Amino acid sequence: MIFKTDKQNVAYKLKHSRRARNLRLAVYYTGDVVVTAPLGFEVGRIEDFLQQKISWVIKKLDFFKNHHPAPIRKASRKEYLNQKAAALVLAKQKVVLWNQRYNFFYNRVSVKNQSTRWGSCSRKRNLNFNYQILYLPDYLVDYLVVHELCHLQEFNHSAKFWTLVSLAIPNYKICRKELKNHERI
Ligand SMILES: [Zn+2]
Repeated sequence: MIFKTDKQNVAYKLKHSRRARNLRLAVYYTGDVVVTAPLGFEVGRIEDFLQQKISWVIKKLDFFKNHHPAPIRKASRKEYLNQKAAALVLAKQKVVLWNQRYNFFYNRVSVKNQSTRWGSCSRKRNLNFNYQILYLPDYLVDYLVVHELCHLQEFNHSAKFWTLVSLAIPNYKICRKELKNHERI
């Protein structure tokens, strides 16, 4: 079913339940919106109900879009390879995007399964990222990419380095702190 609003159309699944006494609404991290209704509940009243809750639903959907769920276990080999490929596309896109700001020379962008770090920059000017960047909110991927890019010029965490980072990410201090709260597995 589709619920139309001025801003966007929201697809939802309608389930009827013999046990439900009232309407229930759930938004899942997968982007699924599920309305559970008692048997024989009028569709018109379901739409009224959605109308009341729609800003909450949209807020939730946006949240899940920006906060990809972190994996709760190590991926299988096949899952890992899929995630690695997707992470590489993401990393390359972000590097190209943010390097428009800096124009640094780099060799290779790669994705690894380094459980100890989110990213690194080698002396050979290769940029490496952890495949789990897929599960970071977008703005933290931006920060991470800018961070590693800036190591192409400053191989340290000096004041000069942070000034360089701040050109693209003025709130880098907050990002740095938040990134520490995101654990890798
Ligand atoms: Zn660093």
